[in-house]
Amino acid sequence: MNDLRDLYQEIILDHGKSPRNFGKPESFTADANGYNPLCGDKVHVYVTLKDGRVEDVHFEGRGCAISMASASLMTEVLVGKTEAEARALFDKFHELVTTEHELVGDDDIDRLVVLGGVRQYPSRVKCATLAWHTFNNAITGAGEPAKTE
Ligand code: ZN
Repeated sequence: MNDLRDLYQEIILDHGKSPRNFGKPESFTADANGYNPLCGDKVHVYVTLKDGRVEDVHFEGRGCAISMASASLMTEVLVGKTEAEARALFDKFHELVTTEHELVGDDDIDRLVVLGGVRQYPSRVKCATLAWHTFNNAITGAGEPAKTE
């Protein structure tokens, strides 16, 4: 079990240090800001939707390793999803980081499971979900910055 935890830790540190899809893309169709005042994490998420599907997700931001790793992993798993699938995945991810439920593994949840450990630290749950809330605000066109509170 410890080996697994070390592996998860490594993946989080890797994504935290070298986030994927980081930076403002040349074009995008929706974007939103997010802020987690509890930790000071800030993200800006850029989404390109095409024919109802997520074609690209990029983000910029600054924050703790969990928030950056979560945003980075999110940009990878959301590509190709319809808006409904993206929302469903957010719900599953939220369940993953807040409950002990054994989620029936699919490929996406298997990739995100590295963040499941935050469920033991309620304040870190907000770090892990910030990018997702922000993505949600971007695709629903909510003008308000996403807040974790
Ligand atoms: Zn944080």
